[in-house]
Amino acid sequence: MNQIEEVKKWLDDADAVIVTAGNGFAQMEGLDMLSEEGFEYNYPQISPKYHVHTIADALDKKFDSWDEQWDFWSKLIKQYSLDYEPSPEMQTLVDLLQGKNYFIATSTYGHFFEKAGFDENRIFNVFGDWTRMQCSSGLNHGQVSDVKAVQDYVAGCGQVPKCEDCNSEMELHMPLNEHFFPDGDANTRFRWFLTRNEDQKVVVLELGVDLTSPQLLEPMVKLVEQFGNWKYIAADLSRDELPDSLKNRGLGLNIGSKELLEKMK
Ligand SMILES: [Zn+2]
Repeated sequence: MNQIEEVKKWLDDADAVIVTAGNGFAQMEGLDMLSEEGFEYNYPQISPKYHVHTIADALDKKFDSWDEQWDFWSKLIKQYSLDYEPSPEMQTLVDLLQGKNYFIATSTYGHFFEKAGFDENRIFNVFGDWTRMQCSSGLNHGQVSDVKAVQDYVAGCGQVPKCEDCNSEMELHMPLNEHFFPDGDANTRFRWFLTRNEDQKVVVLELGVDLTSPQLLEPMVKLVEQFGNWKYIAADLSRDELPDSLKNRGLGLNIGSKELLEKMK
């Protein structure tokens, strides 16, 4: 049996599937936060002024005003999330998980899985979701959708959104500073999912996770090591990179999520 057939069989036989999706997956869906291509051209007001050349650089930077900040954020969110269309490979993933008991843990923050039609109660955005916003005061005043604010900015009539509790400016729900509050409810749902399926046949399917989101690498491998019925499929790791303990319960394909999903079609 070749590796792709084995992946299919493992997924078919699984009682539950956990997908971990990282930066490589976001690239597949059009958001390459580390690419310099086109950045200066698309953001001529921001790039020279703040010496930033990628989306990741620019998200790290504190701009001079909230208005400038929201104007920039809105352009990003509109382009990469509001106008997002799922790729054929994302559609393949939707088909693969149809009718399955699944959970998705992702660091992609672009709202891709929700837009592709996955159940939002089965998604944990570990790095937040930039179509949502949180209070910038440093206090946890919850998180709400920023889509209306983004649309207003794009239409040229935007105003900096304010917190309903304390009137501080709102910021993206992402780990941009030390007071990022992860989505506690989604985190709890994910933990319950793990607990409920400890004794089940679970496949962890790693798609595009790299060292920019270590939370989705080693802890997941450790879980699979811990539970004897669990298996690990890594799109991005080679067989040699899998720990010895997983050699019989792990597949390291080393082809990336795009190619893996293309072959799974
Ligand atoms: Zn507040």
